[in-house]
Amino acid sequence: MTSTTASATAAPARSSSELIRAEARVLAHNYHPLPVVVAHAEGAWVRDVEGRRYLDMLAGYSALNFGHRHPALIAAAQRQLEQVTLTSRAFHNDRLAGFAEGLAELTGLEMTLPMNTGAEAVESAIKVARKWAYEVKGVAPDRATIVVAGGNFHGRTTTIVSFSDDPVARTGFGPFTPGFRTVPYDDLAALEAAIDDTTAAVLLEPIQGEAGVVIPSDGYLTAVRALTRRTGTLFIADEIQSGLGRTGTTLAVDHEAVVPDMVLLGKALGGGIVPVSAVLSSREILGVLRPGEHGSTFGGNPLAAAVGSAVVDLLLTGEFQRRARELGAVLSSGLTALVGRGVTGFRSRGLWAGVDVDPAVGTGREISERLMQEGILVKDTHGSTIRLAPPLTITGEEIETALGTLEKVLG
Ligand code: PLP
Repeated sequence: MTSTTASATAAPARSSSELIRAEARVLAHNYHPLPVVVAHAEGAWVRDVEGRRYLDMLAGYSALNFGHRHPALIAAAQRQLEQVTLTSRAFHNDRLAGFAEGLAELTGLEMTLPMNTGAEAVESAIKVARKWAYEVKGVAPDRATIVVAGGNFHGRTTTIVSFSDDPVARTGFGPFTPGFRTVPYDDLAALEAAIDDTTAAVLLEPIQGEAGVVIPSDGYLTAVRALTRRTGTLFIADEIQSGLGRTGTTLAVDHEAVVPDMVLLGKALGGGIVPVSAVLSSREILGVLRPGEHGSTFGGNPLAAAVGSAVVDLLLTGEFQRRARELGAVLSSGLTALVGRGVTGFRSRGLWAGVDVDPAVGTGREISERLMQEGILVKDTHGSTIRLAPPLTITGEEIETALGTLEKVLG
């Protein structure tokens, strides 16, 4: 077929507004996206259908830590597409061992349970922790509890929303899975009071992303580590959003040199190309799983493992953690200058910030829409908080551009 024939038969390109209307007709309304239709992306920038450029200051909620279409990641995916993409775990594949070895080198945790989405990693960790509680800790059958924090976000499955305290995430989805206790985040005394002989694990985000980049007090994670060790309880760190360079270290728990019993990774582990998640832990803990007890058709597939290995290789250079630290300082000093000028406060670590906008200036959604009109993409979290999580490949000048635009829309 000649290219002339191909273009003669191709459907005419649809405009952004036509595509938005079409989505409203044929897609479930479980999201309320900003009215931008992305058609192309590279690095920290995306282009819409009409060719308008936007600086991506959200980076797929940290799934795009290395920017859009990072050349090393695209090359790894393309190489793997020419070899083998899916085997299922019924057979071995030649990429999986190297991926898990790389994760062990990167994090110091010796074993990997590969999954796909973040929620699956969380579900998997819950199952492993419960099984560990029965087989190792000696908790009576079906009595295991897991302590979680108020304001958490760990995903959307029925079990995970069972221990969410966000009414929007929960309402209408009961009955809920029992076995969870919620304590206030960053409250060690409440955590200690909630742990008893039935407690399998404490499940925490080292920094709560969806809650608005809420950072616990210095020493909290260290104290949680000591408490869980003393009480024979597993410490599970959900690093799905906070991990893989975002905060200036490989994992957010590294800021306190804490080593949890289980670390959950997702989002950026798939390089923005494929969904890849993982539960990392010790041989003793992951060893409670035996053949047939848990699994996933796609988990650990060769394409995912090839991309995941390339992600690990990027992080092993240390360059992205360093960029997050250095550029994080640019972001935080720029935000400091905006406090009292439309910003009431902010929390940041590395290239990750939750910015509280003065409600008199607008809601988080309104500010996000104004920024979009000015070519900057961000996302509101709760009420009047917006979240900034640019790709770690962003430059200092691009951060200054985003801050300048934020100042303009707040003015
Ligand atoms: N855990 C945390 C901390 C998250 O931020 C998210 C997603 O935002 C998840 C789990 C769920 O990941 P996924 O959307 O890939 O299921």
